[in-house]
Amino acid sequence: MTILVTGGSGFIGSHLVDHLLSETNESVIVLDDLSTGTADNLAHLDTDRLEMRDGDVRNAETVADAVIDAGTVYHLAAAVGVENVVENPLASLQTNFKGTENVLEAAAEDGTPVFLASSSEVYGKSEDVPFSETDDAVYGPTTAPRWGYATAKATDEFLALAYHEKHDLPVVVGRYFNIVGPRQTGQYGMVIPTFVDQALAGEDLTVYGDGTQTRSFTHVGDAVEITHELLGNEDAHGEVFNVGAPNPTSINDLAKRVIELTDSDSEIAHVPFEEAYSEDFEEPDQREPDVTKLRNTLGWAPEADLDRILTDVIDERTSDTDDRTSDTDDRTSDKEEASAR
Ligand code: UDP
Repeated sequence: MTILVTGGSGFIGSHLVDHLLSETNESVIVLDDLSTGTADNLAHLDTDRLEMRDGDVRNAETVADAVIDAGTVYHLAAAVGVENVVENPLASLQTNFKGTENVLEAAAEDGTPVFLASSSEVYGKSEDVPFSETDDAVYGPTTAPRWGYATAKATDEFLALAYHEKHDLPVVVGRYFNIVGPRQTGQYGMVIPTFVDQALAGEDLTVYGDGTQTRSFTHVGDAVEITHELLGNEDAHGEVFNVGAPNPTSINDLAKRVIELTDSDSEIAHVPFEEAYSEDFEEPDQREPDVTKLRNTLGWAPEADLDRILTDVIDERTSDTDDRTSDTDDRTSDKEEASAR
């Protein structure tokens, strides 16, 4: 049974492809237009079980051709990064709306199970932390493009649940909380690769706002393991899950820790949001997942371990050799010893 991973050349997608190839005997098709992903992310994989297809999920025919060849679909192709979404609102909205509808419509033909990668952005700027899956979302005005991304992802979730209700399609929605790890680029504004690159270059770490805002950072290795386990679990079908490690960190503390771990002389520079993004920019202040549902369904949930995440990202950027394949393996063996389950 072949597995389709849309967005498989991206940061999370490529780790998922690694995981699926090592944990199953199946073949994997990657459908990706390489708009934000890169072939480099999969270059270490030398196997005839992997097929790459260059295609855009906004094209219904391209998607249908790929879905028909698959027994399971992980739909990760989406617009990524706050900077990208704010700068390219139309393409972001269309990729998220049309891409997801195309995948679900094609999957409904044969009842092919679909994992939909959603985002903690769907909670918007709610301050009611920790967020549980049935909590209310709070969005800002339509003039701030960021909330377009949040509502597009929320609409994707509505669509997935509606296909489940109408066609009995086995779908699982996973809301990723600030997933981080090797291969993530700072190009689209993500904070950890940005801070690590700044610290290693001896530049100021640009903390936006007053730095008291929090995020719950989650290791990509945990995220892909959960993604795989959820779609394989019938109890999860038709359900929405937070995928994240609880224990929020302030951006000020994050910056300090990056400076310590890189042994850098860099300093912290606070940059007003309107300078970093734009005048009408808004962002969530606090973000933390409630993982009760995840733990009840899978028997475990990820533990917050910021140092492990930072060390993996720093090691990737400072090592001479390409050790991409070993990152997740190292993490898995660490976690097997942990009592998180
Ligand atoms: N951030 C920052 N400096 C940067 C990039 C991001 O202080 O160079 C902040 C950003 O304002 C947010 C947090 O770090 O409060 C996480 O940002 P990211 O874009 O990684 O994720 P998201 O905003 O989607 O949670």
